[in-house]
Amino acid sequence: MIQNEAKTTLALQDAELLQNLKAAKPLVWFNPNRKSIATMPQLPLQLQDMEAVLKLWERFAPFIQKVFPETQNNNGYITSPLKVLNQLKDLLSEEGEPILGRLFLKCDSDLAVAGSIKARGGFFEILHFAEQLAIEAKLIQENENYEQFTKTEFRQLFSQYHIGVGSTGNLGLSIGIISATLGFQVTVFMSSDAKPWKIKLLREKGVTVETFDGDFSIAIDAGRKKTLAMSKGYFVDDEDSKLLYLGYSVAALELKKDLDRQGIVIDEHNPLFVYSPCGVGGSSGGIAFGLRQVFGDYAHCFFVEPTHSPAVLLGLASGEMSSICVQDIGLDNKTEADGLAVGRPSHFATQISKYLISGVYTIEDSLLYKLLCQLWDTEKIFVEPSATAGLIGPQTILASNYPKENGIEMGQAVHVAWATGGALVPEEDREIFYNKGKILLRE
Ligand SMILES: *Cc1c(COP(=O)(O)O)cnc(C)c1O
Repeated sequence: MIQNEAKTTLALQDAELLQNLKAAKPLVWFNPNRKSIATMPQLPLQLQDMEAVLKLWERFAPFIQKVFPETQNNNGYITSPLKVLNQLKDLLSEEGEPILGRLFLKCDSDLAVAGSIKARGGFFEILHFAEQLAIEAKLIQENENYEQFTKTEFRQLFSQYHIGVGSTGNLGLSIGIISATLGFQVTVFMSSDAKPWKIKLLREKGVTVETFDGDFSIAIDAGRKKTLAMSKGYFVDDEDSKLLYLGYSVAALELKKDLDRQGIVIDEHNPLFVYSPCGVGGSSGGIAFGLRQVFGDYAHCFFVEPTHSPAVLLGLASGEMSSICVQDIGLDNKTEADGLAVGRPSHFATQISKYLISGVYTIEDSLLYKLLCQLWDTEKIFVEPSATAGLIGPQTILASNYPKENGIEMGQAVHVAWATGGALVPEEDREIFYNKGKILLRE
């Protein structure tokens, strides 16, 4: 610990930033290493990799439609709507900095089956693994109908394998549901901040849940060790998974379609600003990767982290990447934002985000609840607290030097706050969150 602290102080040249991080003050950090597409170093993934993900979803759509009837009206695809937030934009503009440009919400909070952004990465990684096993066992070929994945032979094959995953909640829900549905044995290793309703829901679906006293790092380390010790164990490693990352990245192609449908073109005069709630930086990083592939330099990607868990900000700003965690600078990694209570960034994702993203800002828990309340009051959209973090993105950036320094005209900016979870939150919890926000707004 002491050794780490010394290393941090050396690496973080910017003493004021370190001081503010330690004091858990809300702040914005701009990434000096962001590269233009023209000067981008070779990345470990490419656009073709994203196209391959779409092909896999296409193959599995008949299966998804069959086992999850709620996806029928979308032909077995798990996608989310892009909603315009005119009322909330007006309210926020009255209260503070007027928002220039248009404000949208990408509602991954309503993704079918898993109810969070984890449906994208988590389902993809497990479907990818299942397909590989089935092809190796000669049970299927890529050109056949994947409804066959419901057959007993497939379930028998998968039941020999043991999937493990460490989670603060939502990744566990996603991996647990899809793995159990395919017939895998699956254990979710949950950190102490996991909500009881998530644990209950998973157990009802036949998923084994092990809970740990400590934070996400403790749960994921224990889960990795236990799962990899099994002869047919497969660990979905949120701290280092390329497949999760790829699964998330194709959301950028979906956003392109959403914007096309609304007649919105992204270019020099209509820049895209995307604000993603960030835990290990996998979903947020995967999406940033996709966005830079699709929209090039006109996509400005920002991550949002709780003031008590700025894992990716710390890793990038110090240059220590995943070798440093927020506890190393004395932060407690305590936040009520599900999915964001993460002390150490993803190894795989962060080395790429380093070149892609424009920056990171931090937010206090109390503001998450206020925004949840305001989003409901103005737009009648419910999301979980962590999923509101992107909503202050436009004002945060407009109040900064970023537009001026980069020569960006903000009048026609397209702002997208990424709503990352919410659909499965039980009614009682929704009310508690809302009331908490109401009280905070009155203060
Ligand atoms: C997991 C999660 C995130 C962050 O995703 P990372 O891949 O950890 O960066 C954000 N919001 C919610 C609701 C999540 O479940």
